[in-house]
Amino acid sequence: MSRIKIGVIGGGAAGMTAAITAARQGAEVTVLEGTDRLGKKLLSTGNGKCNLGNRNLDVKEYYCGEPEKLAGFLERFGTEDAVSFFQGIGVMLKEKNGLLYPACEQASAVQDALRYELTALGVRQVTACKVSDVERDVSGEIRVSGGGESFLFDRVILACGGKAAPKTGSDGSGFALAKRLGHSLTPTVPALVQLKCGETYLKGVAGVRADAQISVLSGGERVAAERGELQITDYGLSGIPVFQVSRLVNYLLADGKEVRICVDFLPDYGREEYERLLTSRELLLRDGRTVEAYFTGMLHKKLMMLFLRSAGLKPGDAVRDADRKALEEVFRLCREWTLHVTGSNSYDNAQVCAGGVPLSEVTDRLESVRTPGVYFAGEILDVDGKCGGYNLHWAWCSGYLAAMAAAGEG
Ligand SMILES: Cc1cc2nc3c(=O)[nH]c(=O)nc-3n(C[C@H](O)[C@H](O)[C@H](O)COP(=O)(O)OP(=O)(O)OC[C@H]3O[C@@H](n4cnc5c(N)ncnc54)[C@H](O)[C@@H]3O)c2cc1C
Repeated sequence: MSRIKIGVIGGGAAGMTAAITAARQGAEVTVLEGTDRLGKKLLSTGNGKCNLGNRNLDVKEYYCGEPEKLAGFLERFGTEDAVSFFQGIGVMLKEKNGLLYPACEQASAVQDALRYELTALGVRQVTACKVSDVERDVSGEIRVSGGGESFLFDRVILACGGKAAPKTGSDGSGFALAKRLGHSLTPTVPALVQLKCGETYLKGVAGVRADAQISVLSGGERVAAERGELQITDYGLSGIPVFQVSRLVNYLLADGKEVRICVDFLPDYGREEYERLLTSRELLLRDGRTVEAYFTGMLHKKLMMLFLRSAGLKPGDAVRDADRKALEEVFRLCREWTLHVTGSNSYDNAQVCAGGVPLSEVTDRLESVRTPGVYFAGEILDVDGKCGGYNLHWAWCSGYLAAMAAAGEG
């Protein structure tokens, strides 16, 4: 009996998992990768350490138009399945606060292990093969064209990623292929990305890092909040809490909405603790210290100087003579420093691309409802996760499930 021929388009996280899985099921597998190497993006993940999963896997950590369908996929390939998969290809894992990494903390180990396994399974790997067309052939097979060649497969898995980090190969060309196959696309925006702000004085506080709570304000409402290490740059804001809200901010901006970020640099202070803090600092008002000496020790010096000036206070002035309203304004700024968001960095800097092929256009076997025989896996689908290993988990999960289905076992 002849083996089923499966073509995997895109040799990223999802495509490599799909190819390994399909080959283990006995299929004859070919991976067509546009760049000169498989798994390039993996090298930059998790700051080079590759945060490949999370013990606290939950559908709530993802954004997707069809959360119930997504939950079904995550149930069928959860964290334990990912752990077994990696152990099966020799990658020892370590855990930090629930986040999973290769034990050696080298993303290259994950890329290498996946490539060794592909080779061991006899998967044909065609690099520098940018696929430009996928169509049903008169023979009933699926014809895939790219890199000046043409291939015929029984089934095809589209795993081209989205548009994030295009230097690693995912330049959005997979979306064009999906459209040609009859699919629609949920609008895409860069996600897990830095935000740009309109305030021109940020250069003076660039480089400051602080634990903070950030709130996203739009249409007079607080629409999201995140806590973590905030990084101030000369053009705006960065850091994990900013990354986490960036997709929402980008969709709001795309809708023409006004967006502000309000920063609280004293996130551990509830009302009572805050009152106590103010009372305790009353004592410092009595001696001859300057306004900057008065606020020293509360927050980063660069921020403190910015807030003093914004409140109309002059460094060097005695605090006991200072306008009380101006002092109160500095305290207010510590809790409600508000910036106007004008946009985000581009896909070049984004970790993921939100949007893509809606889950409503694939079956619960990840097969296209428009072009049967074509399956989808990874970021090309309209699923994106928060920071914490969720995006790579989705790549492994969907790659595995699409391949099991394509190989006839799903
Ligand atoms: C800097 C950075 C850090 C990240 N860190 C983490 C992290 O620590 N944890 C986490 O969970 N996620 C992280 N991510 C996100 C994660 O890497 C992606 O979500 C994941 O790689 C998506 O997998 P994928 O296989 O769907 O797409 P990709 O990994 O983008 O792979 C798609 C592949 O398809 C190829 N391709 C595209 N179009 C074509 C075509 N037309 N023909 C042939 N080949 C094509 C591309 O060259 C590429 O190799 C990070 C991303 C970046 C950019």
